[in-house]
Amino acid sequence: MECLTARYGNPSSIHGMGRAAKTILENSRRNIAQLIGARPEEVYFTSGGTEADNWAIRATGEIGGRNGKFHIVSTSFEHPAVLRTLENMGQKGFEATLLDVGHEGLVRPEDLRDAIRADTALVTIMYANNEIGTVQPIQELASLCRSRGVLFHTDAVQAAGYAGIDVEAQNIDMLSISAHKFHGPKGIGAFYCRRGIPLPAFIQGGGQEYGKRAGTENVPAIAGMSAALEEACANMRENNIKLTAMRDMLIEAVSAIPQSRLNGHRVKRLPGIANFSFEGIDGEAAVLMLDLAGICASTASACASGALGMSHVLLALGLSRETARGSVRFSLSKYNTPDEIAAVVNALPPIIARLREMPRPR
Ligand code: PLP
Repeated sequence: MECLTARYGNPSSIHGMGRAAKTILENSRRNIAQLIGARPEEVYFTSGGTEADNWAIRATGEIGGRNGKFHIVSTSFEHPAVLRTLENMGQKGFEATLLDVGHEGLVRPEDLRDAIRADTALVTIMYANNEIGTVQPIQELASLCRSRGVLFHTDAVQAAGYAGIDVEAQNIDMLSISAHKFHGPKGIGAFYCRRGIPLPAFIQGGGQEYGKRAGTENVPAIAGMSAALEEACANMRENNIKLTAMRDMLIEAVSAIPQSRLNGHRVKRLPGIANFSFEGIDGEAAVLMLDLAGICASTASACASGALGMSHVLLALGLSRETARGSVRFSLSKYNTPDEIAAVVNALPPIIARLREMPRPR
């Protein structure tokens, strides 16, 4: 509010109002850098996770291309911000190896070891999956890349605020975050790029963001992201205990529904995401019926739903198309209560039973 009212100056202006905005901008950068174990000059503000992912891949593609390296390693269940960018890089001569994540949704470090080649420019592996919530052994994967001299990027959009991030200790070279996943504003994110990497500019224009991402900074959103990440990190332990208890309550209740399954590893997961498959139903129909009961759930990622596509994440786990179609994702937040989970637990079994009696649309 303060940035939108009293201190609304442009941080590039040299007058007092501008300098006040610049102070907020740089304090936010310093705060966010500290919360992820980085230095302020390694943090660039972006419009969100998608832009940060695009920047990481396109930038390392450019750096790699200069050195004759045209190979990128990733996984088959990344967010579309990564997968579509990799497809686009394919048109520019880059080859992507997408690692299998097995039925538990986890990358095996030995698979990464085997996939890295002399011409590998980048490895990009998400910290935690947005549809099923599984968390990867990021430090091990990143350290492997460091030992092989390959740059490592992680899409930490789902992890920031819920899992400890320390880019220095974890050997992460590049990282993407997005504020709205930890209760910050939408349309703002950050890209961390380790010092020493010759990062090309992503948006040409004025000199903002060290001349690498031009355009007047969204100071209110940046300040909001900084405050939200600080709060999420300060209360992480307490929030995660609360979220885990509610998530497990949900998992236990859903497991009692016949022909249902939890997708992804039971334990190596974020505290707040649980994705279930129910045989013989259509997930979208379940989401609509839950909505009528005042419960907001999703099928694939919100970014992809509406596209009526099959979840590439669930297919990557080896689920049949039929089973993947009958899946529902629940995302919990610190603002949820055990009573709300109890309401879901009560509402879900009759909805599943009713849907199983109905013919499924083809
Ligand atoms: N990566 C992951 C894992 C996500 O879950 C999302 C959004 O849901 C994004 C990237 C894209 O972030 P944004 O919507 O901020 O561009």
